[in-house]
Amino acid sequence: MFDFLSQKFSSLFSGLEGVKKITKHNIQEALDTVQEALLEADVPYGVVQTFITSVKNDVVGQHIVGALKPAEQLMSVVQHKIVDFLGGDDTANAFLFPSTVMVMGLQGSGKTTTIGKLAYKIKKDAEKNKITKKILVGSVDFYRPAALDQLEVLARQVNVFFYRAESNDPVLAAKEIFAFGKNNGYDVILLDTAGRLHIDNTMLQELQEIDALLRPAHKVLVLDAMTGQESLAVAKAFDDIIGFHGAILTKMDSDTRGGAAFAFRFVLKKPIIFIGEGEKIIDLNVFYPDRAAERILGMGDIRTLIERAEEKISVDEQEKAEKAFNSGSFSLQDFADQMVMMNKLGSLSQLLKYMPGMGVKFSPEMIQRGEVELVRFRAIICSMTPKERLNTTILNNSRMQRVAKGAGVNVVDVAQLLKRFEEAKQYVKL
Ligand code: GDP
Repeated sequence: MFDFLSQKFSSLFSGLEGVKKITKHNIQEALDTVQEALLEADVPYGVVQTFITSVKNDVVGQHIVGALKPAEQLMSVVQHKIVDFLGGDDTANAFLFPSTVMVMGLQGSGKTTTIGKLAYKIKKDAEKNKITKKILVGSVDFYRPAALDQLEVLARQVNVFFYRAESNDPVLAAKEIFAFGKNNGYDVILLDTAGRLHIDNTMLQELQEIDALLRPAHKVLVLDAMTGQESLAVAKAFDDIIGFHGAILTKMDSDTRGGAAFAFRFVLKKPIIFIGEGEKIIDLNVFYPDRAAERILGMGDIRTLIERAEEKISVDEQEKAEKAFNSGSFSLQDFADQMVMMNKLGSLSQLLKYMPGMGVKFSPEMIQRGEVELVRFRAIICSMTPKERLNTTILNNSRMQRVAKGAGVNVVDVAQLLKRFEEAKQYVKL
């Protein structure tokens, strides 16, 4: 997410490194670069102008605060402005356990997948708070073939109930699903609705009727971030005719330039509640404007990474890893366990995006090489005996040949792994 902007912005601020004072001249140059970056990222022109004017008003005529260098000062103003644009602090609490949710969006935006992700998230959050939530999902998307079956599969995967309505009239079917949920004591009902490839009056009318009849507590619009500025036009049409509480932006893991996300809150005056960052059920994250601003400015997002770790890695595994780190006898087995743990958090490229400045420093080719290396390392460790994993010094030439053969690699690859492992051990000792 926002990799494109992050690359542009980090080169801008490093260009201001040696600058001692903010002058009209150097600020203008910097602002021109910011403007160019935003326009290239597909942020609408009017929004860019408002952003730039607002930054300029804050910077020009301001005294340098304390020990801040000009580049730091400009960065701080830009950071605050980005947070404001993305929604300030009004989004975090925008989705607190609603009882009935109608999910809308164009076909292919990721509605159905997002319902699966939402059900999973609500369930996990409830478990964390030691409460049980009875969750029901249903679909009135009779327009897209197999949409109902897709939701049924997702519901099974997440372990929530899927109700198939008898009627195939969208409004009547929605009524049936809500009635089933209420009569059977469900705490949360998530309703998938039909989309179309483009804004279409029949679709909007259908949604309007469902909304008028059932008055869902929450209406969520799912938007495909990859569609750029067009997604803003879609959001406006949905807002004019039906209205919604907030949006979920999907496919933020793709190489979208982030312009739509940047402009959404400013144009629609509604929060981005969650962002979809992958196709898996776990890939839905709460959208925090301050964290997104940090990512845009190349500062990484360690907080989200830690949360992902807490969610996906069990306490047992964390304790085991910590013990291994502190024991002074870090083995190749521990090294392998940690690789498995890292893998649960995401691919190398996904992880690097959360690290300050990392996404920018490594080229996609370097990351891909790293990913291939990790797969190779796993295969090599798998073909070692437990004894070898605990004590690598017994790996003589003939053992290394055997391990290499078992993993389908060369002996040099085994030697490379051992070298990497020795390097990792140095860090552990620190
Ligand atoms: P619907 O027609 O709106 O119900 O769309 P689907 O839920 O069927 O999703 C369309 C496609 O987008 C599917 O291939 C999904 O796997 C994919 N998709 C949905 N959300 C995301 C996301 O956050 N990231 C990525 N990479 N793909 C997504």
